[in-house]
Amino acid sequence: MKTLSEKQALLKLRNLKTEFRSFIRENYEHKAKSCLTCETKGACCLDAHFVNVHVTKLEAVAIGETLAKLNLEKQKEIYARIENTIEKYDLKSSGDTFAQTYACPLFEKEVGCLIHSVKPLPCIQHACYERKEDLPPDELQIEAEKQIQRLNEQTYKKFPRWLPLPVFLNLIRRD
Ligand code: SF4
Ligand code: SF4
Repeated sequence: MKTLSEKQALLKLRNLKTEFRSFIRENYEHKAKSCLTCETKGACCLDAHFVNVHVTKLEAVAIGETLAKLNLEKQKEIYARIENTIEKYDLKSSGDTFAQTYACPLFEKEVGCLIHSVKPLPCIQHACYERKEDLPPDELQIEAEKQIQRLNEQTYKKFPRWLPLPVFLNLIRRD
């Protein structure tokens, strides 16, 4: 398997997410409710019984880089929110992590998603569709996830772990 530096892999990851976002936008999103006029904006990100977004290490690094562009005070506030989320929802890095749900600490009322350009695949794919038949098929996300796994393997030389987003951001920060 061809190896990649983290820098090379991050570039490929960004391209992959941009392509995935464009494909979803062009082929599916117009059939969903508009987020711009949504009267419960962010309900999708803050629903503590629904959100169980997981990421790999490479994605966590990309998200960490995006957060690092914010001013220091804001970064401190966000990482404090991330720690509070882990504590509040008792998020773990072992066991059935996909059963763990939480309100996402990266949603900000006036801004929306703080990491829009590198948001995780389920966040890109998710929208509010009235008709079940209009939803993008799960296979699209599964296929893109396989490509992300491969990028992780090529970079870190081991099978990637998928962990709840706040957990991985906290781990990366301590790396
Ligand atoms: S995904 Fe749904 S709940 Fe979330 S902002 Fe868009 S329309 Fe609103
Ligand atoms: S990463 Fe962004 S889009 Fe995804 S749940 Fe968090 S705030 Fe919402």
